Amino acid sequence: MPEGVGNLFKRKLPSQPNCPWRQCLFHNPLSYKLYRAVWIGLDLIFPPTCGGCRKPGTRWCSDCQNTVPLLRGEVCERCGLPQDFAGTCPTCKKEKPRFSALRSWSVFTNPVQSALHRLKYRRDVGLGDMLAAQMADFVRELDWPVDLIIPIPLGRKRMVERGYNQVGLIARPLAMALGLEYAPHELTRRRETRSQVGLSKQARRDNVRDAFSAGTRVKGKTVLVMDDVATTGSTLSSGADALFSSGAKDVYAVTVARALPQHGMVNV
Ligand SMILES: [Zn+2]
Ligand SMILES: [Zn+2]
Repeated sequence: MPEGVGNLFKRKLPSQPNCPWRQCLFHNPLSYKLYRAVWIGLDLIFPPTCGGCRKPGTRWCSDCQNTVPLLRGEVCERCGLPQDFAGTCPTCKKEKPRFSALRSWSVFTNPVQSALHRLKYRRDVGLGDMLAAQMADFVRELDWPVDLIIPIPLGRKRMVERGYNQVGLIARPLAMALGLEYAPHELTRRRETRSQVGLSKQARRDNVRDAFSAGTRVKGKTVLVMDDVATTGSTLSSGADALFSSGAKDVYAVTVARALPQHGMVNV
């Protein structure tokens, strides 16, 4: 049975008795199982290539599955960077990020790096679904009391150029897997920001300061904001800032991958 499906019937739905999303086709665990079954069926009819290594026949081959560098072990309880002691890292002690916690499923290196690259430049919806299925248990085990998932949005210009938000391709099926509301329009970019690649931590923070605004539906809600890759976490922190300004109760952050300082923070 594919990952992320086995536990669907064991998990509890979010504790919102009147939430219409509980009945929603896309947030019903049975629907998610059927949705995955459709993808598995399509892959049998039209064999894909592996998102990690291009091997034909599967969307995410067993070699890639077994070599994902999962980010495990002791991490800063706030920003999620690896460290060899419990608690908060010195950087977060000096200046707390706006989100309550940030966690990443994998280190930003291959095969996840090539899968994310492919997702960004080729609209591979099936690969987004596969990554969501791979990381669903990881997010579930964080046990955060989240009401809705919001992907970090692209600016209008980049959205027009690319035609889709690659983070949404993962966040939407992840929301389905977790039985959470997917609310992509509740966070928007107020302005275009330059790429964070090659910027220092302070420059990254300045680049995304006040870059986002949030909608009214986040009021009183605990939000999980999602991005594909985090380096310093400044983009997610700025997104969290906007969500709090619109009355969010709490904000957590998750990414597929984390660029670690020893990896030179490149290609992010
Ligand atoms: Zn592979
Ligand atoms: Zn930290």
